Amino acid sequence: MEDIPVDVGLIYEGERIRKSSMYVDLAGPKSKGAELLLVVPPDEVEDGKVEVVGPDVDQMEEGGRYPFGILIKVAGEKLEEDLEGVFERKLHYFCNYIQGFMHLNSRDIIWCRISKDAAKKGLKLYHVGKVLVNLYKSEFDVIEKIQVTFYTDEKAVDEHIARAREVYEKRDARASAIKDEDVDVFYSCLLCQSFAPTHVCAITPSRSGGCGAVTWFEGRAAVKVDPSGPIGEIPKGEVIDPVKGEYSGINEYVREKSNGTIERVYLHSLFDYPHTSCGCFEAIAFYIPEVDGIGIVHRDFHGVTPFGIPFSTMAGQVGGGVQSQGFLGISIAYLRSPKFLQGDGGWRRIVWMPSQLKERVRSAIPQEMYDLIATENEAQDLDTLRKFLEEKQHPVLERLKAEEAKEKAEEAPEEEQPAATMPELTVPVQAGAGAPVEFTITFKNAKIYAEKIIIRRKE
Ligand code: SF4
Ligand code: ZN
Repeated sequence: MEDIPVDVGLIYEGERIRKSSMYVDLAGPKSKGAELLLVVPPDEVEDGKVEVVGPDVDQMEEGGRYPFGILIKVAGEKLEEDLEGVFERKLHYFCNYIQGFMHLNSRDIIWCRISKDAAKKGLKLYHVGKVLVNLYKSEFDVIEKIQVTFYTDEKAVDEHIARAREVYEKRDARASAIKDEDVDVFYSCLLCQSFAPTHVCAITPSRSGGCGAVTWFEGRAAVKVDPSGPIGEIPKGEVIDPVKGEYSGINEYVREKSNGTIERVYLHSLFDYPHTSCGCFEAIAFYIPEVDGIGIVHRDFHGVTPFGIPFSTMAGQVGGGVQSQGFLGISIAYLRSPKFLQGDGGWRRIVWMPSQLKERVRSAIPQEMYDLIATENEAQDLDTLRKFLEEKQHPVLERLKAEEAKEKAEEAPEEEQPAATMPELTVPVQAGAGAPVEFTITFKNAKIYAEKIIIRRKE
């Protein structure tokens, strides 16, 4: 690409920009931001236009941190709203093709970084926008017009985030109107195989992709416009377990696309055959054996879980495209799914989540459970968690107590069983073999305990 001061290509996809070589951070955990792609009528798009509202890179201070919004508007005859999430997810990949520009995460938790080298070469957001226009148009014929706006002005970013959240909610609500049993076809996304080679996202009405950007509706729309793209159809096949969410179609598909590494998948459980986790999940559901309950932590929470570790440490152990017993990378939208972890007891099994997340999904939590779920304010470690759950009489404790009682019973030494019992047993007492019987001893209801019993056939 001429007039772009840095290289652009697939080879930069895995490029990481460390703090020491960072020029500026955009959005991210210590600031704020959001990305949004909208399908709009053609007269609302000025094709090829790139606009920056607020300072561009050359007006930013080295080492600075800025709020950041990305808004992309696309138009085209064959486009439908359902494609927004899929196209929006592509932003992550396209941005990372740009040398010296890093994009992490999705939706309103994005985090971008520009390297010192790129800034020195003169890379501006304006150029990033031009690259995006180019890549979107060359990859998707259906996009006829596209316009990119970046926000770095704080007020403009705030407005953008609010609008983006409204759209995310609308998309997620639409997806929750149908259930897994209402359809015959599921979808798969293989986008994250570029860094998690055995990861296959199974996308069903009741489970969106881990990154939160691809719902079942979006999968369906994507297959229509890009049948050979990273999103494909999964025939549902037989229902093997309707509660845990096991389908023969998903098993076969995942087996093939993971090169035989993953054999079985449960959609709605984090035990035995949990769904694989790639790395861009919005939250993690994790089993806490000490209370036999499940905790949830999201990417935005910077404190520690009751295990004493933060999200980032846990994410490092869970991702990469493997099945991790007791851990599951999920989207925030999945918390609103009517089948949310139903194989493990659903909300009745949830014991801990950050207060911010709990508030965010309040309407999805059954009313009687809301007060029984601890947050970082009530429980900072396993002891305080257990105390809280006991105080609230959380249902996991019934299970836990039953389990503990069972374990105790198993540990208790078994009472020795007699080798034989007889209503009456008379033993002659002699001075020696062949001597006359002097007296007899009779045992009533005799129980005989023996280390060994020898049975001989009479000759
Ligand atoms: Fe696709 Fe899943 Fe990766 Fe999202 S997390 S981009 S749905 S593979
Ligand atoms: Zn991923």
